[in-house]
Amino acid sequence: MSKVLIIGAGGVANVVARKCAQNSEVYSELLIASRTQSKCDKIASAIQNIPVSTAKVDADKSEEVAALIRDFKPELVMNIALPYQDLSIMDACLKEGVHYLDTANYEPKDEAHFEYSWQWAYHERFKEAGIMALLGSGFDPGMTNVYTAYAKKHHFDRMDTLDILDCNAGNHGKAFATNFNPEINIREITQPGRFYKDGSFHTIPAMSKHQAVNYPEIGDRESYVLFHEELESLVKHFPELKQARFWMTFGQQYLTYLDVLQNVGMTRIDPVKFQGVEIVPLEFLKAVLPEPGTLGENYSGKTCIGCQIVGEKDGKPKTYFVYNVCDHAECYKEVEAQAISYTTGVPAMLGGAMILKGIWKGEGVFNMEQFDPDPFMAEIGKWGLPWKEITGVKLV
Ligand code: NDP
Repeated sequence: MSKVLIIGAGGVANVVARKCAQNSEVYSELLIASRTQSKCDKIASAIQNIPVSTAKVDADKSEEVAALIRDFKPELVMNIALPYQDLSIMDACLKEGVHYLDTANYEPKDEAHFEYSWQWAYHERFKEAGIMALLGSGFDPGMTNVYTAYAKKHHFDRMDTLDILDCNAGNHGKAFATNFNPEINIREITQPGRFYKDGSFHTIPAMSKHQAVNYPEIGDRESYVLFHEELESLVKHFPELKQARFWMTFGQQYLTYLDVLQNVGMTRIDPVKFQGVEIVPLEFLKAVLPEPGTLGENYSGKTCIGCQIVGEKDGKPKTYFVYNVCDHAECYKEVEAQAISYTTGVPAMLGGAMILKGIWKGEGVFNMEQFDPDPFMAEIGKWGLPWKEITGVKLV
């Protein structure tokens, strides 16, 4: 039975909080703290079976987070705010000696660049403090890391290639919206693509490599190679991989809008002067786009996200795909969220439970694939993300 502090009150935090409440044998009390307290209150009002309190916090200020921790005394802090806050929240956890979990790796606000080095640099300090940080406990990263570890443990003597396939075949009925925080999402997909091959990462122009992929339960969808953070940790922890790529589907309408927004300068992250004040165009764009947490109501269709691995088992070549299919409308019915928030929030809740139950134990900073995948794979279906396997069919 554990008290947990959840930071953030957006689309994903709503799912995390409700899922924690469903798992009340582990999560006995929650404090939801975010920049806008009314959003925390709204989430709290949907939970009746465990005590939930709320607070206002600016998580960019480590001291504010530390003060909340001192007051509430949680066993774990779940950072479900934005990647910009990762380091300030990790600093607060270190100061107060509390475990840490997040769903996205750190990126500085003034540079569209994300990598694990900043957070991995905390390893020794977390170790000395006798606490653990679990990084990237969402779906991708998160579930995809666990799928890869599971494939290695049960299906391969040697993994040669990894292709992470992320398909959202849903329709929210809006002309243009992003499924998670618009600022973070647009920064991610407008960067050059990168994939790993023969010992190093190779850069290609954004959205330049694509092909149709036939997704189970969905069908053909155009899929684009882009860089995603779990590639960095997976090739580190599975150095046998000769190639690792990440594919994501985009509809033509989405790409056309994105192209226009980029061409007119609305995705810029450097400040511009407007009527005497400095504004960052991408931050302004975020303010006028729908919030991810509001997309669920009319969302239909499914997501299919999984890992294809090609390698060798018992001296024979093997192709294996492990994946989840999630239905937007079903998610909305259960927790008033669309499937992207849902597929992120459920692994965050379960990653937290693995720490709190002492099943995943360690001192330092860890990625999901460093722990035994079996207990996670055994439970994740029960919490809403059942997985399936296909052997012998190559999707890409
Ligand atoms: P939202 O924009 O819906 O929510 C972000 C929340 O963080 C908002 O409540 C926001 O407050 C709060 N916040 C922002 N800055 C601060 C701050 N300085 N102090 C306190 N609170 C702050 O985003 P999502 O819920 O869609 O995404 C949440 C996280 O999940 C992101 O880091 C995203 O990258 C990650 N993610 C991970 C995925 C995965 O599979 N691993 C997939 C999808 C998302 P306010 O409401 O006031 O703006």
